[in-house]
Amino acid sequence: MATPSVQERVLIVGAGQAGARTALALRDAGWQGAIVMAGEEPELPYERPPLSKAVLTGSAQPGDATVLSEADCGLHGIELLRGETVSALDLVHRQARTARGARLDYSHLVIATGSRARELPMAGAQLDGVFVLRTARDALAVRDRLKHGARVVLVGGGFIGLEVAASAASMGCEVTVVEAHRHLLGRVVTPTIAAAVERLHRSHGVDVRTGARIDSIEGVDAVRRLRMADGSAIEADIVIVGIGALANDGLAIGAGMPCGDGVLVDEGARTRAEGVYAVGDVARHQTLWGAHGVRLESWENAELQATAAARSIVGKPAEARGAPWFWTDQFGGNLQMLGYPDPRHEVVLRGSLDADSWCAFMVDGERIAAACLWNAGRERRGIAQLMNAGRPVPASLLADRERPLRDLLKVTS
Ligand SMILES: Cc1cc2nc3c(=O)[nH]c(=O)nc-3n(C[C@H](O)[C@H](O)[C@H](O)COP(=O)(O)OP(=O)(O)OC[C@H]3O[C@@H](n4cnc5c(N)ncnc54)[C@H](O)[C@@H]3O)c2cc1C
Repeated sequence: MATPSVQERVLIVGAGQAGARTALALRDAGWQGAIVMAGEEPELPYERPPLSKAVLTGSAQPGDATVLSEADCGLHGIELLRGETVSALDLVHRQARTARGARLDYSHLVIATGSRARELPMAGAQLDGVFVLRTARDALAVRDRLKHGARVVLVGGGFIGLEVAASAASMGCEVTVVEAHRHLLGRVVTPTIAAAVERLHRSHGVDVRTGARIDSIEGVDAVRRLRMADGSAIEADIVIVGIGALANDGLAIGAGMPCGDGVLVDEGARTRAEGVYAVGDVARHQTLWGAHGVRLESWENAELQATAAARSIVGKPAEARGAPWFWTDQFGGNLQMLGYPDPRHEVVLRGSLDADSWCAFMVDGERIAAACLWNAGRERRGIAQLMNAGRPVPASLLADRERPLRDLLKVTS
């Protein structure tokens, strides 16, 4: 291949899942120019979902989920700069500067810098034994401390906190989950489903404390306990903080781009700056599946937005997106979510929440606005079809376990 001129170079900043997928999708879409990807982590680009699951329990290594190998880079003509942090962007001259002082020219820029774990703003948060879980290194450091009998406290009852709780409990640790909200998974599921998840954790010996506020983390060199706002204490050998993530949009802000916990993008992953795109956790969608201003931290979003950016760069139209999809694995079970649950939605159950498998539909009138599936992943495709088509389905049919869900597509078409 002849060396392309700078007019034909895509620079991808951030070599995580979305960045690596964008590089591959560009070649799929027919991009002939150069592709350079700069990422601050030393590892090859990898997927993060196993970090809180199989990597913690020791049944997988972070490298098992590599997205782009050296061989892929050679095959697809992708120049991967590992351990290279981009420190500033000059949108006028289409140039990025690295922390080591190098300058990288581009014709198209893709911001794929992901998100970072939110830290606890309180005394003791810097003590040894207090962790967040975002990178392969974090996961290996946490894994090192998850010894049988260790007292492990999860701060935050969101997905990552609960996955770590499940992994730690399965390794024989004494686990406590501390959640400030009234129920677990406060932002993403309805109280009924949260209660089912809480029962699951309690049945495996996890001490779940909701509505609990931490005052400080105590210890001298290493963490010893959490002091709660009500004066009580929870003894801890290790504390993992999982209280959400913030978009790594500092580069975009520094370059004067409009941001609001995320770089604003359209359905083609285009930002408001010409020739600049944003993908994955760092991007905030202006509109996505009927919702405005959403930022998704999910495997699926990283995949789909990578394709969208590549298509935009080569001048192809964006493909329609369906209901957002997310999954989590806890205690050998699998919970999948479609759409945006809202506490105002009525919940229609198909099966009992105490059974091994169930579906819960969040309905708005006769339309399915969101769905949660417990060990029922095989139903996802059919439900997504109903949701994406906006088909009205009577609650009585949704709840009827004698009617296969795929039949509802025929009934309602
Ligand atoms: C522990 C964990 C478990 C998860 N489990 C699930 C799950 O079960 N299901 C699901 O759907 N999703 C899950 N997710 C979410 C999913 O992994 C993310 O949405 C996905 O990784 C987003 O990809 P990304 O490329 O946008 O960000 P990342 O994968 O975070 O990649 C961004 C990269 O950019 C780099 N970077 C940042 N700033 C710079 C800079 N200035 N210069 C150079 N490089 C930079 C970062 O170091 C990082 O390597 C999980 C996430 C975590 C952390």
